[in-house]
Amino acid sequence: MSTGRDYAALLKEVVDECRPYAERGQLPSYIPELRKANPKLAGIALQTSTELYEAGDTRVEFTLQSISKVFSLLVAIEERGPEAVFAKVGAEPTGDPFNSIVKLETAEKKPPNPMINAGAIAVCSLIPGATVEERFGRIAGLLEGILDRPITIDEAVYKSERDTAFRNRALAWFLKEINCLEGDVEEVLDLYFRQCSILVNCADLARIGMFFATKGINGAGTPLVSARAVRLVSTFMVTCGMYNGSGEFAIQVGIPAKSGVSGGILGVVPGRFGVATFGPALDRKGNSVVGISMLKRLSDLLDFSIF
Ligand code: GLU
Repeated sequence: MSTGRDYAALLKEVVDECRPYAERGQLPSYIPELRKANPKLAGIALQTSTELYEAGDTRVEFTLQSISKVFSLLVAIEERGPEAVFAKVGAEPTGDPFNSIVKLETAEKKPPNPMINAGAIAVCSLIPGATVEERFGRIAGLLEGILDRPITIDEAVYKSERDTAFRNRALAWFLKEINCLEGDVEEVLDLYFRQCSILVNCADLARIGMFFATKGINGAGTPLVSARAVRLVSTFMVTCGMYNGSGEFAIQVGIPAKSGVSGGILGVVPGRFGVATFGPALDRKGNSVVGISMLKRLSDLLDFSIF
């Protein structure tokens, strides 16, 4: 059994060992603002039921990007019920990239799962509210309840994505045509871009991981969503959370996780830990190179795998 002292030393060892892997990755360029990140940053944090351990660049802020998909999915499931959600989005992983359009015209004529962009945009359209602000407030409210602090967005990243999201716009209009997007397309996209631009740091993500690990209970002991919704979303994190790298990640790390193109990875070791990494340089599938290598290493050291 590792002690707190061991955890702190382990995390430091893991960051030092894995930081050089950043050279193997690249910054994303399709959202111009994300190109400005420092590719050499690397951080890792581990939240137990009582303590937060961290090493490296854990207090540098970055935007949630795709990690936000788990929060809108939790809100949609809680507010609309799983049946309404899964009428518009499927539950199967794909071997396609996160922003692929190809399955919308084949298969079931709905996005294959809520962790790819098309599925997440469909899910955003199900968040109740009269205005984008009100709908965003539900997603931000959940995060504020988990982190016990106000949430802000990175305006520059938000605008950068909004002004260049040609592919996501195409996906959204296609979704509208196949009846998988409720309401106004531009409003739904606006909500999606806002949720992607929410600012967090690596330590926040570890706390969020612990919220999942305890099936929806925040640090103060308050249940914020149903255990059933957390179970559903955590399952998607296993099957599709690491894009089309989810299979290999399940073999090598073996935990529910969700990555984003700004370099964060949110990890859940059910009943034990929240774990998170940050490193902006990405592999070809869109996952943080340093993040994956750190999680592999820590999974071996602390026997994370749920399988
Ligand atoms: N905002 C990004 C997009 O829609 C999120 C993608 C990601 O993190 O995978 O392209």
